[in-house]
Parts: sequence; C-alpha cells; structure tokens
Amino acid sequence: MENCIFCKIIKGEIPSKKVYEDADIFAFHDIHPAAPVHFMLIPKLHIASLNEVEEKHQDLLGKIMFLVPSLAKEQGCTDGFRTIINTGRVGGQEVYHLHAHVIGGGTERLPVMIPNPS
Ligand code: AMP
Ligand code: ZN
Repeated sequence: MENCIFCKIIKGEIPSKKVYEDADIFAFHDIHPAAPVHFMLIPKLHIASLNEVEEKHQDLLGKIMFLVPSLAKEQGCTDGFRTIINTGRVGGQEVYHLHAHVIGGGTERLPVMIPNPS
C-alpha cells in the first residue's frame, strides 16, 4: 500500500528498530514505548486491520501469535507481557496496517487496561 507507514517500514523507506524479520512477518520497536519493552509484529502483507482478515490469512495470524512469546522473552519480558491488537475507531487503531503490540519488561504489573465500571 502506497501511503502506509508500516509498509514503508517493511521496505526500509522509513527507519525502524528491527526486532525480527522473516518472509512473512516483520517486528520492530514502537516509537512511543508504553513500557520498557514495547514492540509490534506486523504481517508483510498489507492487511488494514483485524476487521479485514480472511480465511486465507489464518496461518499468517497463527504465525504472528506463535512468535509473540519467544520474541517477548528475547526482548526481556521474563515475567509476562500484554499483547494488544487495536481494531478500528472504537478500538483506538491509529495505523491501518494490522499490528500486534507486545508490552512489558518492567517489574510492576501493567495498569488495568479498561477499568471495571462497578
Ligand atoms: P495503534 O494505535 O494500535 O494503531 O498503534 C500504532 C502504534 O504505532 C503507536 O503505538 C505508535 O507509537 C506506533 N508508531 C507510529 N509510527 C511509528 C514509527 N514510524 N515507528 C514505530 N512505531 C510507530
Ligand atoms: Zn501497510
């Protein structure tokens, strides 16, 4: 996709701090880390969001999720981490190229994501 910043990162047209790369997947550090470890895994194929995934993408999604724990540990998440996929407007998605955030690395429990209203 021409104007997608994550496609440009994959192509090396925008610099990034790479965590991992193979034929199908690219992982890199978030430019505004929310915790000591914060990186994202993206498919090299441009898929705008989880709302656009199709049956043919199942293996790719599985591969991304399979990589999460090993990359998280490699990056220093020795005691757990959080994986987030923001989707669409209500989900707070800012970049429309599917990405899984991996956040952790500190010693404290991460803050509650969505406070219980009760
Ligand atoms: P989301 O709200 O889930 O769409 O998250 C998009 C994420 O991309 C945000 O956490 C941004 O900090 C991150 N981001 C935006 N531009 C870049 C970039 N050039 N390099 C690394 N991370 C980026
Ligand atoms: Zn893209």
